Amino acid sequence: MKLVLASAATMGVASAFVAPSSFSGAAVAPRVSKASTSTHMSLSEYKDELAQTAKAIAGPGKGILAVDESTATIGKRLASIGVDNTEENRQAYRGMLFTTPDLGNYISGAILYEETLFQNHADGTPFVDCLQKIGVIPGIKVDTGLSPLPGGHEVETWCSGLDGLVERAKKYYAQGARFAKWRAVLQITSDGAPSALSIQENAWGLARYARAVQEAGLVPIVEPEILMDGDHNMATTAAVQEKVLAAVYKACSDNGVYLEGSLLKPSMTCPGADCTEPVTPEEVAATTVNVLERHVPAAVPGVMFLSGGMSEEEASINLNLMNSTPRKGPWSLSFSYGRALQQSTLKAWQGKAENLEAAQAQLKARAQANSEANLGKYVAGSQPSADETLFVKGYKY
Ligand code: 13P
Repeated sequence: MKLVLASAATMGVASAFVAPSSFSGAAVAPRVSKASTSTHMSLSEYKDELAQTAKAIAGPGKGILAVDESTATIGKRLASIGVDNTEENRQAYRGMLFTTPDLGNYISGAILYEETLFQNHADGTPFVDCLQKIGVIPGIKVDTGLSPLPGGHEVETWCSGLDGLVERAKKYYAQGARFAKWRAVLQITSDGAPSALSIQENAWGLARYARAVQEAGLVPIVEPEILMDGDHNMATTAAVQEKVLAAVYKACSDNGVYLEGSLLKPSMTCPGADCTEPVTPEEVAATTVNVLERHVPAAVPGVMFLSGGMSEEEASINLNLMNSTPRKGPWSLSFSYGRALQQSTLKAWQGKAENLEAAQAQLKARAQANSEANLGKYVAGSQPSADETLFVKGYKY
C-alpha cells in the first residue's frame, strides 16, 4: 500500500526547545549542549538537570512511549498492516502518534530512533516540537545494535555504540533529547546462557553508556532485557535477573554513574514463553518486586518496564498489581512499553488518514490504562486493547 500524504518529509534544524509547562526545572533547558564548547566533559554540570529530568519522566501517573524501533523493526510493524516501509510512511505513523491530543497527561517521554529525532511532521513541524506541544520529553535510542558475543553461548550478544557516544549525545541534546536508551539483551537456555561473560559484558556496556550520556546531559535508561524465549520457569528467571541486576549496579558504581539521574528498564520476572508451569499475574508481580527490592538502589527514581511480548492488557494488569499491593521499594514502578502501547493503535490506523482519530483514541486509551496502573488504580478491561500475545522469538528492537 502506498500512502498519500499532505506534504513531503522535510528534515531540518528545529526551533528552540521550550519545555512543556507540566515539567519542572531542567527538562526545560534551551536546545544547546552545555558541554558543546568545552573539551573537558563534566557530569557535575548536569547533575541537577539529570535528577529533575529523571524525576519528571517517572512522575506520578506517567510513563514512556517506546517508539524507537529500528528501520527494519518498524518495517515489520508496518508490513503487518500492509504499509510499505518508506520514510514517508514512517513519518506518517509517528506523526499520528506525536499529535495525539492530551497524550502528555499519561506519557512523560517518548524514545525515538535517530531518524525520528531529526525528522519533521508532514506539516513541517519538527517532531521534537510536536512532542513538546503535547507535554512529552523526547528521548533517543543510542545503541547501534546487537552482535554475536565472541566466546559466549551461540545465542549471546553484546551491544555496540560506545565509540564517539559523548559527541553523539551532545548532538542529540542540542536537538532537544533529554534522555537516552541502550538495550542489552540476555537469554536463558538450559545449557548455560546467560554465561558469566555475557552478564559481565552487557552490564559493563550499560554502565559505560550510562556514564557517557550523562556527560552530555541525557538521562540514561539502563535496559538489561531478559528475553521470554525458552521453557524455564519463573524461579529461574528471578535467579538470572538477580545476578544481572547485581552486575549492572556494580558496574554503574565502578563507572561513577549518577543514579539519581538514571532510570532502569527491566523486563518483568516472567517464566519463559514455552514454560508449562502456570503462574498467576499476582505471582509475576510479587516476584518482580522482590527481585527489584533486592538489587535496585533507592537512589534510582523510576523502574520503567518493557512489555517484552506480553499482551497490552497483561502488561497493564501486571503493572497495576505491583502498584496496588504494599511493597518496600521506593521507586516509581511504571512503563516504557513499545509493543504493548502500539499494537491496537497500529491496527486502528491501517495507514489511512481517515483512521487518524480512532488510532489516536486507541493510543490514549492504552496510555491511560498504564498511567492508572502506575497509580494502582487500573480496572482490568476498562480500556480497549488488542488481546493477542505480542511475543516474537529472538526479538530484535
Ligand atoms: P517492548 O515493550 O515492545 O518490549 O519494547 C520496549 C523496548 O524499548 C525494547 O527495547
